[in-house]
Amino acid sequence: MFKKYSFKGGIHPPHNKKQTESLTIEEFAAPDKVIIPLSQHIGAPAKAVVKRGDRVCIGQTIGDAGGFVSAPVHSSVSGTVKSVGMFPHPTGKQTMAVEIENDGTDEFAPLESFEKPWKEAAPGELIQKINNCGIVGMGGATFPTHVKLSPPSNKPIDTLIINGAECEPYLTADHRLMLERTEGLLTGALITRKILGAKRCTIAIEDNKADAIAAISQKLSDPKFKDLSVGVLKSKYPQGGEKQLINAVTSREVPSGGLPMDIGCVVENVSTALAIYDAIIDGKPLYQRVVTITGPLTRTPKNLLVRIGTPVMNILQACDVDFSMLKKVVTGGPMMGIALSTLDVPVIKSTSGLLTLDEKTPGIREYPCINCGKCVKICPMKLIPSRICKYAEKGKLDDAAEWNLMDCMECGSCTYTCPSKINLVHYIRLGKYQIQAKRAAQNTEQKK
Ligand code: SF4
Ligand code: SF4
Repeated sequence: MFKKYSFKGGIHPPHNKKQTESLTIEEFAAPDKVIIPLSQHIGAPAKAVVKRGDRVCIGQTIGDAGGFVSAPVHSSVSGTVKSVGMFPHPTGKQTMAVEIENDGTDEFAPLESFEKPWKEAAPGELIQKINNCGIVGMGGATFPTHVKLSPPSNKPIDTLIINGAECEPYLTADHRLMLERTEGLLTGALITRKILGAKRCTIAIEDNKADAIAAISQKLSDPKFKDLSVGVLKSKYPQGGEKQLINAVTSREVPSGGLPMDIGCVVENVSTALAIYDAIIDGKPLYQRVVTITGPLTRTPKNLLVRIGTPVMNILQACDVDFSMLKKVVTGGPMMGIALSTLDVPVIKSTSGLLTLDEKTPGIREYPCINCGKCVKICPMKLIPSRICKYAEKGKLDDAAEWNLMDCMECGSCTYTCPSKINLVHYIRLGKYQIQAKRAAQNTEQKK
């Protein structure tokens, strides 16, 4: 019997995972054309190193990292570069991308697997390989992994948590990977642990994935995985949030404005751990990922292994989506996902799911706050959402900042729970943007 970890606050939205949790991952056929954005990560966009007319192979670098906090991007098909230009991005912006026509030959660039057994390699050598393979956080954050694995020497890491919570409703991509690629992701966890020099490494899984807990626990009986452990989490949203996960597993608190490394922790998503394994063991760059396609209008839901750059429209067609009723497609889960402005956008490194919905965000009428305190009780960041929202709504940004508006992780739990239907997270997000814009303007002014 496992002890179950949890955190204070949070909500219990319906899981809605039954539709896809038992569906084996299928490989989705590469499309005729891919559009691969040069910006699929936090930090500087990659810089294109190919031009119109160039022939490329699968796994070939098509964009070099644009700085230390950046990541290279690789081709996911073999074919010819049609253009390098501005294309719609899942975030709603237009960004630079490489458009490649697939020649259908699936020719690979030579994959350079690691030149020695990983256990004999220095952390720096492993990090360099991870960097070259374009690995970024695949749970949604898209922070370049080589940066996360390079904390300064005055921030020693003693705890690595591999995040298998997948607490967003509907999503099952990580769940399937834990069942179908168990050995690979556990080896990825060991590689990551070695890089960080962490004593403890816990694979943290919510208790609504009993089969994944069993599969991983069984593998851990193999002596080669003796340095890993399983941590069972109570199913609750947002249990997979970095700070909530750390608090649940270690009882430590990331300080306001701080980072997990400030308290000796690093969190990596299970998909990222597997991508690290693929990079180090097979020399494979990050050019495909598993995506859950689901939602009320998806007649044939699936977990698909998709090439990066595949247009969303192709995937929805293959899953028999009812386009006559379709009002909204969300990339990611329903709580923190982003509604797509067009279905021409491609799957990118952070696309964990595509959710089809028959209602646009309803124009729900907001009622006055009744001071019920529910939003305060459930806020996983221990904020007072009602008060911060009031300040943000009135443009009192300094007051909102004083009440730690910038600590909001935009999980949406307060909006979900508010009986007055106040879209608290919307006002808070707006306030954050305004504060960031104000600070950027002040910085520019100071540099003049
Ligand atoms: S204030 Fe932010 S962190 Fe707290 S519940 Fe609302 S969205 Fe989540
Ligand atoms: S949950 Fe809504 S009504 Fe209740 S205190 Fe918060 S903002 Fe006010």
